[in-house]
Amino acid sequence: MPRSKAQRTRLPGMCANYCGREAMKGRAICLFCRETKMRQYWRRVADGICTICGREPAMSDLRTCRECAERRTRTMNRRYKKLRERGMCTRCHHHRARPNRTLCLNCWIKTGQRTLAAQTPL
Ligand SMILES: [Zn+2]
Ligand SMILES: [Zn+2]
Ligand SMILES: [Zn+2]
Repeated sequence: MPRSKAQRTRLPGMCANYCGREAMKGRAICLFCRETKMRQYWRRVADGICTICGREPAMSDLRTCRECAERRTRTMNRRYKKLRERGMCTRCHHHRARPNRTLCLNCWIKTGQRTLAAQTPL
């Protein structure tokens, strides 16, 4: 499904909001846009409205309205499924997952530090 916004090409290293500023290192947006977004986000949290659409009242524990939460879950599931089908890491989306796993070696080591106790030792 083509979206008109996607037709605008983003220059590498530039902010994804097309504000004309340089994006932060390793980020899609610039510091200015990030701060604006965060301010907006926390204002919505404080007002108890959805942090995604900013229109509907948020469900108490999710900070988003039901509709946005469902849409996000659907998108995440789709993305997850696609990554799994392609054998890509479901965490970083950049590296190949280890055979029969959903994470690449890198992410596996990183997350493993937290879940080591739950896993059988190699
Ligand atoms: Zn920006
Ligand atoms: Zn919403
Ligand atoms: Zn990874």
